Amino acid sequence: LVEYRGVTKSFGDLEVIKGIDLRLHAGEKLAFIGPSGSGKTTLGRMLMTLEQPTTGTLTIDNEPIWQMKDKRGNWKAANEAHLRSIREKVGMVFQHFNLFPHLTVERNVTLALTSVLNLSKEEAIGRAESMLEKVGLLDKLRNYPSQLSGGQKQRVAIARALVMRPKVVVFDEVTSALDPELVGEVLAVIKEIAKEGETAMMLITHEMDFAREVADRVIFGAEGLIVEEGTPEDIFERPQSERLRTFLSRL
Ligand code: ATP
Repeated sequence: LVEYRGVTKSFGDLEVIKGIDLRLHAGEKLAFIGPSGSGKTTLGRMLMTLEQPTTGTLTIDNEPIWQMKDKRGNWKAANEAHLRSIREKVGMVFQHFNLFPHLTVERNVTLALTSVLNLSKEEAIGRAESMLEKVGLLDKLRNYPSQLSGGQKQRVAIARALVMRPKVVVFDEVTSALDPELVGEVLAVIKEIAKEGETAMMLITHEMDFAREVADRVIFGAEGLIVEEGTPEDIFERPQSERLRTFLSRL
């Protein structure tokens, strides 16, 4: 479904991704762990079309995200219309929710359904309601984000991403900004959705128990490279590299 091939990313002189080859299969749940600053967020942002790789290619459904063919069949840089079509396949949930504060919960969730997917209002509301029910917030339809707890806001953000039925969702440290007592409810919702299976997930997380429980495969990265990857058992119970052992022992 998603493939990173020789991807690097530099910000000025700082090379934060130093050559990543990685595949994410349809429906697969992939967890990314690693020290702060190792480039996990940047990897996710490239898939979300928010950052462009410096070199290498990134494809979804075998289609390059950052390149497209012109009329003559030559590759050129992706334009906005191409990126928009890519964005329909990729959902994203951020650390800081990024809800629209002036819109109700329902409108936050239906907005892209009507404006991007061109669904009718009724259809959009129907889909939104069933998604909000899944995240346990059907009773908050008419509320505004400011009237919700952090955990509830994040659950709305998850509903907003999933209601679009993307092929892959990037969850970028979605519990890092939450009070500890609210982390559980958000992780529980993600676990529930993960069980349903269809949507691939890229879980960038500092929650090791969560990664262990939800992920099919765990990637440990450090300083812009993949150091180790494997099943949760491989990574957490049989770490091979000194780096990973040190990382895990410090938690
Ligand atoms: P964390 O777990 O702390 O979120 P991370 O592994 O997700 O870290 P990134 O956020 O991808 O790491 O950042 C990797 C490096 O790239 C960091 O040194 C960061 O300062 C740098 N960086 C990220 N975005 C930019 C940017 N837009 N401009 C300059 N440097 C950036």
